[in-house]
Amino acid sequence: MNIAMIASECAPVSKVGGLADVVYGLSRELEIRGNDVEIILPKYDCMRYDHIWGLHVAYQDLWVPWGGGTIHCSVWFGFVHGRKCFFIESHSPDNFFNRDHYYGFPDDAMRFAFFSKAALEFLLKADKHPDVIHCHDWQTGLVPVLLYEMYKFQDMHHPRVCYTIHNFRYQGITGTDVLSATQLNRPEYYHHHERLKDNVHPSALNFMKGGIVYSNFVTTVSPKHAWEVRHSEQGHGLSDTLHIHQDKFGGILNGLDYEVWNPEIDPHIPNHYAIANLDEKYGNKEALRDRLLLRKDYKPIIAYVGRLDVQKGVHLIRHGLFYSLQNGAQFVLLGSSPEASINEEFLHLKQEFNDNEDCHMEIGFDEELAHLIYAGADMIIMPSMYEPCGLAQLIALRYGTVPIVRAVGGLADTIFDRDFSEKPLTARNGYVFQEADYAGLESAMHRAIGLWHAYPEQFRKLVLQGMQYNYSWHRSGQHYSRIYEHIRTQ
Ligand code: ADP
Repeated sequence: MNIAMIASECAPVSKVGGLADVVYGLSRELEIRGNDVEIILPKYDCMRYDHIWGLHVAYQDLWVPWGGGTIHCSVWFGFVHGRKCFFIESHSPDNFFNRDHYYGFPDDAMRFAFFSKAALEFLLKADKHPDVIHCHDWQTGLVPVLLYEMYKFQDMHHPRVCYTIHNFRYQGITGTDVLSATQLNRPEYYHHHERLKDNVHPSALNFMKGGIVYSNFVTTVSPKHAWEVRHSEQGHGLSDTLHIHQDKFGGILNGLDYEVWNPEIDPHIPNHYAIANLDEKYGNKEALRDRLLLRKDYKPIIAYVGRLDVQKGVHLIRHGLFYSLQNGAQFVLLGSSPEASINEEFLHLKQEFNDNEDCHMEIGFDEELAHLIYAGADMIIMPSMYEPCGLAQLIALRYGTVPIVRAVGGLADTIFDRDFSEKPLTARNGYVFQEADYAGLESAMHRAIGLWHAYPEQFRKLVLQGMQYNYSWHRSGQHYSRIYEHIRTQ
């Protein structure tokens, strides 16, 4: 099957969040399965060009109809770790993609509306006829709209679109001027509750809603989150739209890149290990303690690695730190926040615990240290307020580190409580709590720390059961292939 992936990010060349990992990981898996996948991305100035091989102009003059005229673009081609990627460079005076960073500009909606249109114009002019177009998040929500309302009448006769939503919080809510820019025009038609009219702000358009309405199939990144966005405020105003379109909506769990995250060959950890030689893991615990100047004591290390964002339950992360230190455990934190006040709060805490040999906090982003923490820690905490899928718990399982998580989104779909799950005893892999409060978190941490101290053999068994799980891209790839097959033959 020929698949065109249209997205605003792809790891590792242009990565802001999990979206980038999915675009790369899923494309790779689909190729392993025999599909031909081409990824279309904006050509940003701030990309990691050192991860692109053989970059060259593949299509010199692409003229994209825009507003009252056309915008001149060039399309570049290069391999990103084996993936075939096209990069759209616009020569518009608006300078859409050369802005030093990816998002956060007042004209973001216009920038990505342009990208969506340019991507389709490229497919048309380059005479590419993908069986399925797969687009992602609000940035490409207009792709199916433009395809069905415009490009279908220009030689793209059998449009088929799968649309994946990674984050419902950002929807591309904007004014109707984008209709004249894209040449969709007809505000009375598009600014209608059955199409793009935002469900909350009556004068606005919503790209993500357009993506949902016009696509043949819509997914989000875990089955539980697919339920949450329809039945709770996590849908951020789109629950009704999802209800209307529920027959073409579902949740598919993201996979983890098992090549990058593999304790048997991980170049960032000193001791390699697997299920058969789990004891080697503890050499990494020593190495982590050496690196972070932690006391070598008979205690478990509990860690948090991730963004310090309200979504992640910062108040509970902070509480987890105190609770660990008061209850016979050490605590390691690696994280940072775009919000200055949260960073300051944690920098303040770091100072407070500067001389404490049971605690280390690193405020910043450090890929290499993250690997060592996953390998060296005994447990991680993820007390998220919401979590569409979550990767850290999947990494932890792979590295024999027991996840302690709140039962939301992808966390609820992947982690099964050792004491209370409905899963068979041998299929349980962590600790889970329900309520987003101190008592909830404590109940789970208490049981985890207690098991580690009192029943080390049982704890080891739990570690091994977690390592036996396989959350690679294999299964997700299978699910997406079925969806593509389904919509192609509709
Ligand atoms: P989200 O995508 O919501 O940030 P996920 O759990 O899905 O959360 O994925 C986060 C990924 O980013 C994980 O691989 C995690 O290890 C990594 N990560 C997050 N913060 C940091 C950091 N400060 N340093 C290193 N890696 C980090």
